[in-house]
Amino acid sequence: MSVKRVNMSFNNILLFTDLDGTLLNKKTFEFRAALNLIKNCISKGINIIPNSSKTDLELDEICENLDIPKVYISENGSCIHGLNYLSKKLNEKICLSRNKETIFKNFSDNINFKLQKKCLILENETLQNQIEVLGLPKNKISKAMNRKFSMPFIFSGNKEEEVELKNNVKKHGLNIQFGGRVLSLGDRVSKGNAMMRFISLLSNETKKNYVSICVGDNENDFDMLDKCDYPCLVKNGPLKKINFKNQCVVSKKEAPDGWVEVVNKTLNIIKKLEVNE
Ligand SMILES: [Mg+2]
Repeated sequence: MSVKRVNMSFNNILLFTDLDGTLLNKKTFEFRAALNLIKNCISKGINIIPNSSKTDLELDEICENLDIPKVYISENGSCIHGLNYLSKKLNEKICLSRNKETIFKNFSDNINFKLQKKCLILENETLQNQIEVLGLPKNKISKAMNRKFSMPFIFSGNKEEEVELKNNVKKHGLNIQFGGRVLSLGDRVSKGNAMMRFISLLSNETKKNYVSICVGDNENDFDMLDKCDYPCLVKNGPLKKINFKNQCVVSKKEAPDGWVEVVNKTLNIIKKLEVNE
């Protein structure tokens, strides 16, 4: 395990977190049990950065509800928002993805038509279907569907065809990610790459080293969990056995309690390292 030996005051910590199934309960979207710890982290100078498949409009609202600054990564690594809050000279918005129209044109021009037909693009579905698929109340749908870089869809083909579709899409410079409920077509971006870009932009500007904690629950979180210093996995269904570069803290409980469990555990590990130095 490679542990970064930097002068570990808590304001060097960047805590990147997925939301659905990680900080928010996957069925009820409840997060109240985590509010105390979030408040504590912020008061110690720890930056909490949601890194989610959600849109900027949804993330703005969640940051308000969590009472944290609007610094986040939207649509599965497509766009970084609010870096200027951490360092004035940095841009408010840094997009790592091409826009949705370009992505969709690429998709419809290049992907095998037989496979395309099996993709039910959620945008084109009825409101009632969107509500059912996303598991969101009616009043949250317009923010969730207001996507700039990605298109959620349901695939009606079999597993083999899904693999074929994913490979096909990759060949044409696009990417399909699974966010827990639906598949999503987007650019060749990922939560992990966006996180690395976030850290390098910030550290170039501030000349500081940062320690990264990442919390996730699903396969679209794995690349950020693998790239960070302290990976944390919140239980969501049967336990998956994955090896990351650094030792992973795994929760016994589901979100939001599981989030509290892994974050507390990790902060204690970091505190102990500091004492022993
Ligand atoms: Mg998730």
